[in-house]
Amino acid sequence: MSADCLFCKIAAGEIPVEMLYEDDELLAFRDIAPQAPVHFLLIPKKHIQDPAAITDDDERLMGKMMRRGAAIAKENGIEDFRLVFNNGAKAGQTVFHIHMHVLGGRDMQWPPG
Ligand code: 5GP
Ligand code: ZN
Repeated sequence: MSADCLFCKIAAGEIPVEMLYEDDELLAFRDIAPQAPVHFLLIPKKHIQDPAAITDDDERLMGKMMRRGAAIAKENGIEDFRLVFNNGAKAGQTVFHIHMHVLGGRDMQWPPG
């Protein structure tokens, strides 16, 4: 747990979210400002700042986040989806606890803005 980290507080149950999945090492919850009909976040309970801070020890957990994200998308009727990790403020990161966006339910543009 990192002090003053919003997602550590969510992981600790201190801030309510619309939870979609939780186990001992990760959770999934709906984004408070959805950018698509289905938009949820996967986070590890462990505080990792961003993708650049992932270590060897985290590799299995990152793969689990991707697999779980795909499974939850399917449970929500989404076959085509986009997974996004923003790394750093210029890339759009606003919460500095690693999170994977899962977006779906509408046509997506490429490249992203
Ligand atoms: P970032 O911009 O860092 O990649 O994504 C952070 C995401 O967290 C944003 O999409 C934002 O809407 C979401 N978010 C920020 N605060 C909260 C919150 O308190 N609850 C939920 N459910 N989502 C949040
Ligand atoms: Zn954190």
